[in-house]
Amino acid sequence: MTTDQEFAGMSKPSTWHPIDPPRPLNTWERQMIDLLLSQPKACMDEVPGSAMVRRQLHSARVDEACSCCLSIGIVVDHAPANQMPGGPSGFYTDLGGDDVDGMSMWAILFTKDGYLVELEVQRADGTPFRLEPDPRLFYDGMSENS
Ligand SMILES: [Zn+2]
Repeated sequence: MTTDQEFAGMSKPSTWHPIDPPRPLNTWERQMIDLLLSQPKACMDEVPGSAMVRRQLHSARVDEACSCCLSIGIVVDHAPANQMPGGPSGFYTDLGGDDVDGMSMWAILFTKDGYLVELEVQRADGTPFRLEPDPRLFYDGMSENS
């Protein structure tokens, strides 16, 4: 699993490249993050801390991206009022699904010091997505690790 290697701030694979100047989140990225914060798999309205993360999104910019998948590095304004309680770093929340060809895929959010830093979206076989997967595909085939 490449999750740890791709965690923001750690040594990232050479497939990551900076985006300068940072760009706004695109529509699909916003939909994916919103889905992750809504946690349909757990039938929860919100995951803990998501109200702060939603406020962070107002200032979110994409400053890195991976060429082998749809993962992005995210920067947000460090406003203490929007920091997640306890300032957690690392894995935040995830969803699993099946891509259009049946390959398993996942989406994961990572935080650093209570701020959003990365959206990871990968296929289990490491091959590139042909299209940005429909967020609705993540409602099915959910991961079982949480
Ligand atoms: Zn990648």
